[in-house]
Amino acid sequence: MTEPQIAVGILSGKEIEFSFPIKFISSVGTEIAGTQKAIYQNGKIRWQEKEYDELSFTPQQGTHTFFELKNVTIGINFHWERKEIQKFKGELKIIIEGEQLTAINVIAIEEYLTSVISSEMSATASLELLKAHAVISRSWLLNKLRIENDKLKKTMPSNSAANSQFSILNSQFIKWYDHEAHKNFDVCADDHCQRYQGITRASTPQAIEAVSATRGEVLMYKGAICDARFSKCCGGAFEEFQNCWENVKHPYLIRQRDSKTEKQLPDLTIETEADKWIRTSPVAFCNTQDKKILSQVLNNYDQETADFYRWKVSYSQQELSELIHQRSGIDFGQIIDLIPVERGTSGRLVRLKIVGTLRTLIIGKELEIRRTLSTSHLYSSAFVVDKEYGNELPSRFILTGAGWGHGVGLCQIGAAVMGEQGYKYEEILSHYYPGSTLEKQYK
Ligand SMILES: [Zn+2]
Ligand SMILES: [Zn+2]
Repeated sequence: MTEPQIAVGILSGKEIEFSFPIKFISSVGTEIAGTQKAIYQNGKIRWQEKEYDELSFTPQQGTHTFFELKNVTIGINFHWERKEIQKFKGELKIIIEGEQLTAINVIAIEEYLTSVISSEMSATASLELLKAHAVISRSWLLNKLRIENDKLKKTMPSNSAANSQFSILNSQFIKWYDHEAHKNFDVCADDHCQRYQGITRASTPQAIEAVSATRGEVLMYKGAICDARFSKCCGGAFEEFQNCWENVKHPYLIRQRDSKTEKQLPDLTIETEADKWIRTSPVAFCNTQDKKILSQVLNNYDQETADFYRWKVSYSQQELSELIHQRSGIDFGQIIDLIPVERGTSGRLVRLKIVGTLRTLIIGKELEIRRTLSTSHLYSSAFVVDKEYGNELPSRFILTGAGWGHGVGLCQIGAAVMGEQGYKYEEILSHYYPGSTLEKQYK
């Protein structure tokens, strides 16, 4: 296998403006330089007074040039959302999607990874943590390319809700969310896939080193590339895949304590054990308050709390009943109780019973629970509930919780601590993906 290329969807619009500082070759065989504009018109791409179904522009052989795309939106849905000019190496492709145009960057996978690791990871992170992340990102990408080659893509309708599965059975609403596939390219440039800005910002020397030192390496289990999930903080114990997504067991995504000194892990699927675990602060790699380490993993660290290994959220009766109504679209009336029904191996709730004065419903899985009980996302679904009573109904609900995110696979805070403690990236990966092996897919 040689190094694959990846197609990244950058932006869509009725018009796309782009420019070439040095000559590029167009798919119609002409040499192009300077500022260009392509417009969607009557189901075609209009460019230089001619119409096309698809266009592409490649750099001349042996040149290390780039192209620019204008009006790329960054920080979508953040207060700092704005448009900027972005620079990319590799090929520019323009295609028609719906009633507009989409600009796609076709780029060698290692080049892409260097950009992604630079923008997603702090430059202060240890080299071993960056290497571990490079392997995870590469595994995810190659897995995606392989699945698409298996023609799964063709059976998946575009823009459908193929990422969320749900069933309503016996008063249960069980839903999970997984990655929605793109139809006309491999990954998008937003947080939905991995944030990618080409060479707009300089790659960090650490990211360049981490990617090149692990070139071609992916995580494998029994001949297949691993589904290398990761989250911010497991809370001390790993969650298993099937408790968050579809009911498939991955042998390398299994229950384990996030520690090498403390191997014992209580059975957190048992309510009394989970209760004890969540209300205490057990030893784990991710049980840290070290600001230097936390800032390696958390963007805008200053605005974040350090209390996510164990955390607390408190709602009044009115706040909680309104929140659940608004978030689920279901009117439960006043909330009488939140009752754990099923927990996973990290203590995360897989199913939660909401008892209201108007109705009772069991919801799941973990992300649905987190979305229902917060205006954005609750840190995790590993929580226990305490109630304060004013009259017959609870006047206040206090949620005490553990960890941040789904807790499956690599725990970013724990991995950052391991990196600081001198563990090699191979050790970090085999800790979080037990039984997996590292294999080079190409030179
Ligand atoms: Zn995407
Ligand atoms: Zn952890």
